[in-house]
Amino acid sequence: HVIKNVNLETVCGITSALPENIHPEVAFAGKSNVGKSSLINALMNRKSYARTSQQPGKTQTINFYNINDEIYFVDLPGYGYAKVSNEIKAKWGRMIENYLQRSKQLRLVFLLIDIRHEPSQNDRHMYRWIVENGFYPVIIATKADKIKRSQLSKQLKLIKNTLDVAEGTPVVAFSALSKQGRDEIWDLIETYALN
Ligand code: GDP
Repeated sequence: HVIKNVNLETVCGITSALPENIHPEVAFAGKSNVGKSSLINALMNRKSYARTSQQPGKTQTINFYNINDEIYFVDLPGYGYAKVSNEIKAKWGRMIENYLQRSKQLRLVFLLIDIRHEPSQNDRHMYRWIVENGFYPVIIATKADKIKRSQLSKQLKLIKNTLDVAEGTPVVAFSALSKQGRDEIWDLIETYALN
């Protein structure tokens, strides 16, 4: 996919109104430090446009990246960072749920899971929210370069089983280092969001 321009167009805090975008949106969810910024940057062909987690868990915003005036990438706040209060955790939950319920343009939600770890309770919760709100989930197993090739199918199976994913749900292994999975993810965006 050719990236002509990328613009962080809207940053929503807990009290901001969501933008009324006219182009389709695809959202990215996952626990903090899972590799969300790295994935978004790789898809946008940018080295470090999306924030990276210098201060994990600190950013409580929903960021809308306008790509080519054609589609928005929606960077949801990373959840599950241990060192924040329950009050802040609850706020994140409400922000994410509010967005899932209200966006009129959301077409596809990517749920990122570190390929090395069993999905957490938060991950399972997020998966359920996506499905219950009627969206099409795609699971991205991040940091695929961190495991041996021989471990790949076992880890993907663990993720599928723990999330109890519906039959046919795409699960894509991705590495920000090798860019493995990048084209496949863009194909899914084209199929489910741009048509
Ligand atoms: P975020 O908090 O979900 O936005 O995560 P980041 O994209 O900032 O990544 C968190 C950390 O994981 C950083 O140190 C990244 O360099 C590292 N990281 C992200 N993706 C990959 C990957 O595919 N492979 C490896 N080896 N490290 C990664």
